[in-house]
Amino acid sequence: MKHEKAKRIVVISGKGGTGKTFFTSAIASLVSGRSVFADCDVDAANLALALGGAAPAASRRQERFFGGERAVVDAGLCTGCGKCISFCRFDAIHMENSVAQVDPVGCEGCGVCTLVCPSSAFTLEEEMAGQWFVTDTQDGPLIHAELQAGGENSGKLVHKVRSVAEQEAERVGASLILIDGPPGTGCPVLAAASDTDAILLVTEATTTALHDLERAAEVASTFGTPIGVLVNKSDLNPEVVKKARILCDEKGYRWIGDFPYDRMAAEASARLLDPFSLLEDTTADKLRALVANALNMVGLDVVSSAVG
Ligand code: SF4
Ligand code: SF4
Repeated sequence: MKHEKAKRIVVISGKGGTGKTFFTSAIASLVSGRSVFADCDVDAANLALALGGAAPAASRRQERFFGGERAVVDAGLCTGCGKCISFCRFDAIHMENSVAQVDPVGCEGCGVCTLVCPSSAFTLEEEMAGQWFVTDTQDGPLIHAELQAGGENSGKLVHKVRSVAEQEAERVGASLILIDGPPGTGCPVLAAASDTDAILLVTEATTTALHDLERAAEVASTFGTPIGVLVNKSDLNPEVVKKARILCDEKGYRWIGDFPYDRMAAEASARLLDPFSLLEDTTADKLRALVANALNMVGLDVVSSAVG
């Protein structure tokens, strides 16, 4: 019998530091059934640590990611005619000792120089922009990535992480792919949130964060995917929590709930520990209820021993 396709939940936030990874790992540790995790925060991936998995060196799979192309000159073929300089609209070519030189940072890989050079001195070479990994964590396979410093095309790397997560989900028969999205509202966020079954927006109870939430929700709503809202550190400003609830009512987002500031939760979050490891029972119950609400968006549940 063919395995039913895994549900996909993406956790995003309008800005960094709202506790997104904390709630992602809480869901990861409580979801019933097999799961696969995709850390799409490729500029600052930390889900491998939060899920208690091994560091990238111990990953089951490690592959290079090529984000784009850069022009390379064969100095032996260059006659120093200078034609390429006038055609490169990114000003990425200059002459040194009558040989064309490409500035690797300025080059956009457009390929015009390969077309205009009378000596065919240019080639386009793929440029490594990062790496991606598959690491087996205690909760299931995790696909994560590192965009190297100055590496471009994080949207493309997010896409790669997601496609490997799909393969892993098929392989292990997962019922959930849980995606930790990048912060903000840019192209990598769209790549992380597209083609999902639920979008969980995590924010905190400050006026700025509420604005970020509204912006992120507006972007997320273009997909027509159900959106849930969770407000972290809700006791910072109860007025913001009220406004977030009103926003949910007005826009048809699901209210997942709020989570008051908790010193032990903050410590677990900062130290990337299991979210439940330091919590008092009542706080842990509150967190379990939020996880159950989030999973309910896609018809999944928490493990039965964790309910109540
Ligand atoms: S167009 Fe070709 S031959 Fe002329 S300077 Fe550029 S690389 Fe050299
Ligand atoms: S590939 Fe495009 S940007 Fe790069 S050096 Fe050639 S013309 Fe300039």
